[in-house]
Amino acid sequence: MSQTLAIIKPDAVGANHTGKIIDRFLQAGFRILGMKMVRLTKETAGAFYEVHKERPFYGELVEFMSSDRCVVLALGKENAVADYRQLIGATNPAEAEDGTVRKQFATSIGNNAVHGSDSDENAAIEIGFFFSRSELVQTS
Ligand code: UDP
Ligand code: MG
Repeated sequence: MSQTLAIIKPDAVGANHTGKIIDRFLQAGFRILGMKMVRLTKETAGAFYEVHKERPFYGELVEFMSSDRCVVLALGKENAVADYRQLIGATNPAEAEDGTVRKQFATSIGNNAVHGSDSDENAAIEIGFFFSRSELVQTS
């Protein structure tokens, strides 16, 4: 089993879509290995998205991610990173396929409901960013 980090972003939490989105993860075969609700500071949001700090949308992204609560989940499944990204769809909901989480819940390229890791290496880094060992179900 491999792992990925999911974040239900402030737009989706604020719109009361948390339960429906978690159900999409479970119905797609993901196992919840860890879960918490957090209100990120600007510093924490900025550090999480450090890789994007030179991009024009970085300031807006940090403001958005620290604007309200997020629900953060460590998810486990075979082929977790790729399967999860398929489940959530394209970054821009206008380009997301029918049936994807972003097609259903995202309202713009910035306010796009969910985050997902983009590689196994980054999944491990991102899970470690939010969770200590004792907060995760041990899978090995
Ligand atoms: N984002 C944005 N404008 C853009 C591209 C990205 O506001 O033109 C935001 C969006 O919330 C996205 C996040 O920055 O989810 C991270 O961007 P990335 O390209 O890593 O997309 P993701 O991996 O989330 O699909
Ligand atoms: Mg990304």
